[in-house]
Amino acid sequence: MRVWAIANQKGGVGKTTTTLALGRALAIRGARVLLVDLDPHASLTRAFGLPAEPAPAGVLDLFDRPDSELQQLARSSDIEHLAYLPAQTALATLERRSATQPGLGLALSNALARGGHAYDHVLFDCAPTLGLLMVNALAAADHLVIPTQTEPLALHGLNGMLRTAAMIERSRQRELLVSVLPTLHDRRTRTGNETLKAMQDAHGERVWDDAIPNDTRLCRIQVLTESSLPNAYPGRALSAYRRALDWLLNRHAGLQEQAA
Ligand code: ADP
Ligand code: MG
Repeated sequence: MRVWAIANQKGGVGKTTTTLALGRALAIRGARVLLVDLDPHASLTRAFGLPAEPAPAGVLDLFDRPDSELQQLARSSDIEHLAYLPAQTALATLERRSATQPGLGLALSNALARGGHAYDHVLFDCAPTLGLLMVNALAAADHLVIPTQTEPLALHGLNGMLRTAAMIERSRQRELLVSVLPTLHDRRTRTGNETLKAMQDAHGERVWDDAIPNDTRLCRIQVLTESSLPNAYPGRALSAYRRALDWLLNRHAGLQEQAA
């Protein structure tokens, strides 16, 4: 099982879109995939068409009932091998509880240890808040993917996220592979290209040498339903996501070789 955290402390950079696109591409290749929605706003959950009310069973149950099983809480999707674990809006209350209730930081790691074997890949779609849920995801992950918009202000978010990742890596004493995925890139603008270059210069091989284009036809629903769109749909962003997945899997394989 491989565990991915898709995270950035900045909102609107394409985290949920990335989680859906990578998850879907993995499932289409035949892997058993679980997407976990860790954002109380539940964008990923809604992309699957699940309403917020009444609150579904989902991530919160892993914190409330330490013996709950991932597979029982997960929902299947229209895509074969692709399951998801819904977020509830009440996830927002967890942060307060973590102050008084010790041990919540490993709730997701523990849930994976109990039931993760049912999946080849588990992807956490994180909220932009650096809190209990993100700490849980980073503690459990072997690969952190940071989607980063190619605009100057996004570089601060990237640096913040890299510092957080380094901090968590030290405390858990296990290597965390970190990859930076440039997103929402507009190659017609000078700012976009300069920012992409600055990102690559500063962070080297951690940064993909390509970028997910800003594709105005792309929305989260389309990421899931691409096959039902007319053939004329160019799907530029989605084909870029398939290339990104190859790069990410290669990096992962390289790390495992080093460890062996
Ligand atoms: P986050 O999860 O980081 O908040 P989202 O994945 O929800 O970001 O993306 C924010 C918005 O940008 C959404 O409306 C999404 O459909 C759109 N979006 C994401 N990636 C792209 C892209 N490559 N091209 C165009 N729009 C995109
Ligand atoms: Mg999101």
